[in-house]
Amino acid sequence: MNIILLGPPGAGKGTQARVLVEERGMVQLSTGDMLREAKDSGTEMGRVVADVMARGALVTDEIVIGLIREKLATVKANGFIFDGFPRTLAQADALGELLEAEGQTLDKVVEMRVDDTALVARITARSTCGMCGEVYNDETKPIPADGKCTNCGGTEFKRRADDNEDSLRTRLMEYYKQTSPLIGYYYAKDMLSRVDGLGTIDAVQAEIRTALDA
Ligand code: ADP
Ligand code: ZN
Repeated sequence: MNIILLGPPGAGKGTQARVLVEERGMVQLSTGDMLREAKDSGTEMGRVVADVMARGALVTDEIVIGLIREKLATVKANGFIFDGFPRTLAQADALGELLEAEGQTLDKVVEMRVDDTALVARITARSTCGMCGEVYNDETKPIPADGKCTNCGGTEFKRRADDNEDSLRTRLMEYYKQTSPLIGYYYAKDMLSRVDGLGTIDAVQAEIRTALDA
């Protein structure tokens, strides 16, 4: 089963994708993670996207479609979770074509709904483990007092360069302008399920499970 987690920045897509990876052996394809890796490893493409990402603007369709194309051609999986992709109608069309070329289908799109005030609060409180990517939140899931990641024992934690109020405002506006039309796009294809992204991690996961197994 191949699914998209759709929602604004901070909706919890990455957190929920990680649960699905653990429970169902699916593979998470996050274009945000891929772009950050390219940036950290200092590739040419990484240099091109670094500034765009720091501002909170969208990287070109060509770049992100290229990243997904390469993954779909090389990674074999019992199901993909697309996280942060597609973000434009052109990307959505491209994903449909790429999956078709691999003899695969897109099965479900889960829209995670969270209001803007909650998003800002979540994102400005967010940090991740530098080793395994486990997500922490100053308010709801603080880094343990011993300073060690509960998942892997790592002791370095990072905050994203674009998790500040200015970039966040841009990311939210990009979401409403470019990405939210995908809600209608997938609704019309009868693939859309909606979940309330404001609950606890477990409560949201339960709703997603229901949506996927329906
Ligand atoms: P968010 O928390 O905003 O959902 P992501 O980690 O998914 O963050 O993406 C971070 C940044 O990477 C975006 O603000 C954008 O600059 C870039 N990016 C990620 N995925 C895409 C995409 N599919 N199309 C264009 N740009 C993307
Ligand atoms: Zn860790």
